[in-house]
Amino acid sequence: MADRDSFAYLDYNATTPPLPEVTAAVAAGFDIYGNPSSVHAAGRRARAAVEQARDAVAAMVGVTPAQVVFTSGGTESNALALKGIASASVFASAVEHPSVLAHVATENLIPVDSAGIIDLVALDARLSKAPSPALVAVMLANNETGALQPIARVVEIARKYGARVHCDAVQAPGKMAVDMGALDVDSLSLSAHKLGGLKGAGALVLRSGLEITALQVGGGQERRRRAGTENVLGIVAFGAAAAQTARLHGAMATVRRLRDDLEIAIVRVAPHARIFSQGVERLANTICVGLPGLSSDIQLMRLDLAGVAVSAGSACSSGKVTPSHVLLAMGVPESEAKCAIRVSLGWDTTVAETAQFLDVWRGLASSAAA
Ligand code: PLP
Repeated sequence: MADRDSFAYLDYNATTPPLPEVTAAVAAGFDIYGNPSSVHAAGRRARAAVEQARDAVAAMVGVTPAQVVFTSGGTESNALALKGIASASVFASAVEHPSVLAHVATENLIPVDSAGIIDLVALDARLSKAPSPALVAVMLANNETGALQPIARVVEIARKYGARVHCDAVQAPGKMAVDMGALDVDSLSLSAHKLGGLKGAGALVLRSGLEITALQVGGGQERRRRAGTENVLGIVAFGAAAAQTARLHGAMATVRRLRDDLEIAIVRVAPHARIFSQGVERLANTICVGLPGLSSDIQLMRLDLAGVAVSAGSACSSGKVTPSHVLLAMGVPESEAKCAIRVSLGWDTTVAETAQFLDVWRGLASSAAA
């Protein structure tokens, strides 16, 4: 980070600064230039680095290394699961990340309640009539609100109908422990840059023995599940970050206290502000707050000018802020959804950073009230 003394980075759900262990592993990794598919010594060295990282990622989610397929990140992992796992119909919760929603017909979206939690009765009803085998995608933690989905109940319902479950767990590791065996899902998406690794590396973790059809073909890499020379440096960084998650999770109790204190202060300063999904189990680091009367793009700009980085719902790719589909699915009126921002703390967020946010927020609250 350029200058965390004057700059408050409160956008960890968008991406995280690389961990020092990652920076060190990457620096050393520049010497590992061989192609992991080459049989000579340089290739074997690269292969060993990739497999060491695979071991760390597998250990992070409690699986065997052969279950881990390295990809370019969460978006590709979701595509590979939803396209590559054989199914006759695909369903998803209405609050999934766009990289999941892109693969699901609108009529197959399962509604959520006002806190963003999937409607299990609706899921059961839809699966009971769905062409079999169905595939259901439900995320572990929502990127905008932090709300945690009841994956165990989703799996239980899915199994009644012989359906498979894909879980986008991209937002979880680094903020909470993830055990794929305990979740009992068929596939799990991970992304390195959300847990202190680098952008452009991730994994799809598969239930042992589950066959998938590769999307990217033309090479035997990743046990024929994902062709193309591996992103060795990105994978090395992913492994280095994965090895640190227990430490990051240890920091979450402090992060939760900082977050909770900040939420109290936010509402004290702006009593008309609404914090979404506050009443349900959610990630310790996330605040999704609406400030009626002041659009999220204005809030974002004013915060940015004051050196505070946050997001408006899901990151807007076209530079245009549209109301968050997550908040709309939760029944939040469009006018209110357009005034929501996401503040996401991280393992090294300081009190000074949250205070910097609060200083600007005070001004925003009085503009909104004016
Ligand atoms: N899924 C969720 C829940 C996310 O938050 C993100 C990124 O914001 C993705 C998937 C996409 O991951 P990536 O940026 O690695 O493609």
